[in-house]
Amino acid sequence: MSPAAPRPVDVHALPAMLTALRLPSVLRHWPTLAERADAEGGPAARFLAALAEIELADRDARRIQRHLQQSGLPGGKTLATFDFKALTSVPRARIEALAAGDWVETGANLIAIGSSGAGKTHVLCAIGHALVEAGKRVLYTRTTDMVQRLQASRRDLALEAALARLDKFDLIILDDITYAQKDQAESSVLFELIARRYESRSLAIAANQPFSGWDRVFPDQAMTVAAIDRLVHHATILEMNGDSYRRRTAAGRRSAEAAVAPTTSSDNQPIDTINEKLREDAE
Ligand code: ADP
Ligand code: MG
Repeated sequence: MSPAAPRPVDVHALPAMLTALRLPSVLRHWPTLAERADAEGGPAARFLAALAEIELADRDARRIQRHLQQSGLPGGKTLATFDFKALTSVPRARIEALAAGDWVETGANLIAIGSSGAGKTHVLCAIGHALVEAGKRVLYTRTTDMVQRLQASRRDLALEAALARLDKFDLIILDDITYAQKDQAESSVLFELIARRYESRSLAIAANQPFSGWDRVFPDQAMTVAAIDRLVHHATILEMNGDSYRRRTAAGRRSAEAAVAPTTSSDNQPIDTINEKLREDAE
């Protein structure tokens, strides 16, 4: 086709052509923009660029929406719904910095430790949401579900492929790690996942036990230490102490009731001391 002798253009075929080209936003917006361009008489390139911009922006939005669906993140647990004042043990700025996501670029980890109801799931999911919005791939899963999934792959002699498929996620959130069963086969797939992602892909882990209680998760102490070692090497650890948010809000509703008993546990032990001790015990 020579530019000197243009063929007549079939405007009626435009919707079909735009559909074939997979340009749904151009398809939706061109009539309005074309009408305006005709009225204003601006350069044709500006009209075309405006349509291209709309398609690109919508494409980004659709990708984020798809990634959000694939992430398994529960709806509603976002930074917008998080009450920072209720979490006194971690400064707001720290969580906002984590939500910015630089740590994920380097494959670092995030570990939230605290008693039940402290807000661990909510905080990790809120950070996960923010990362998806920023274009990262995130997968949220309960640790037991992940273990079962990997175990099934191992039975099919496809563990390596299953772990490789998980590499596409910049961040995997493993919720409730201490609920995972202490079973040789199960725990070693968890270790395989941790070892594979070490220094390349991030993990965020929620635990309602301090590290000293993690020996229930792995088959022996040497593996527990090896797993914790890899996880904490480049990690932010959020020690989320304090009362259960659920209990506190329930108590708030029943304001006439007496004060809620404070939780007493060994969760306040400094992490380094616990880790040090685990290491000594294993040696
Ligand atoms: P955990 O995982 O530590 O057991 P969750 O994150 O599941 O605790 O929190 C328990 C409930 O309280 C959830 O419904 C959660 O959304 C809510 N919650 C906890 N902390 C906060 C907070 N600071 N602001 C708003 N909601 C919170
Ligand atoms: Mg939880």
